[in-house]
Amino acid sequence: MLKAPRDVPFSCCCGQIKGTLRGAAPSTGTHLECFCADCRAAEVYVGQPDTPSVTLFQTSADRFDIEQGQDQLAVFSFGEKNLLRWHASCCGSIMFNTLRNPKTGFASIRVPLLADQDAIGPVITKAFIKTASGKSKHHGMARFVYGILLRMAAVRLSGRWKQTPFFDMATLKPVREVQVVAKEDRARITENLR
Ligand SMILES: [Zn+2]
Ligand SMILES: [Zn+2]
Repeated sequence: MLKAPRDVPFSCCCGQIKGTLRGAAPSTGTHLECFCADCRAAEVYVGQPDTPSVTLFQTSADRFDIEQGQDQLAVFSFGEKNLLRWHASCCGSIMFNTLRNPKTGFASIRVPLLADQDAIGPVITKAFIKTASGKSKHHGMARFVYGILLRMAAVRLSGRWKQTPFFDMATLKPVREVQVVAKEDRARITENLR
C-alpha cells in the first residue's frame, strides 16, 4: 500500500533540539541501514555505545525544519572533504548527515530520532555489510543511488536547495564551524570497534 507523506516530529535524545521532517514517506527518501566504519565511529566519537549499524532516512535538506535548540547543533567530519556529521552537543545524539556542498541538497536523519518511524517504511538499502572474507557488500544500492541523484536534480532545478537549516545562504558555509577529527583519533576509534 502506498503511504501518504506525513510531517514527522524529531528530537535529539534529551529533547532540546526539536524539529519536523516534512513529507516523510517511502517515496520521498530511502530508509538505509549502514554498517560502515565511519558511521559506527561517529557514534563512539560523540560518546554513544558501539553499534553494529545505524539506520538513516536519506532525503533532501529542504524537508528539515529545526524549530528549537539550534544553538545546541554542532558538526564534525572525519576529514577535510568528508561527510558532515551533525550532532546534538546537549546529549551527544548523532542527528543528521549532509554533504559539504549545499547545492546537492543531500541530508539524512538518524531514524531512531523520528517520532513516527512507520511513516518511512522498512529498510530498503543495506550498505557496507561485512562478509566472511572481510570485504563489504551492499543490498539495494542501485535504488539508493538512483534516489539520491533524482532528489539532487529536483532540489537543484527547483532552487529548493536554498531551503536548508544546515547552511548559511549568504556564505554557502555550514551554520556551525566544522570540527575536523584528527586521523589518529578516528583510527583509534575504528581499531576498537567490535
Ligand atoms: Zn539533546
Ligand atoms: Zn555509513
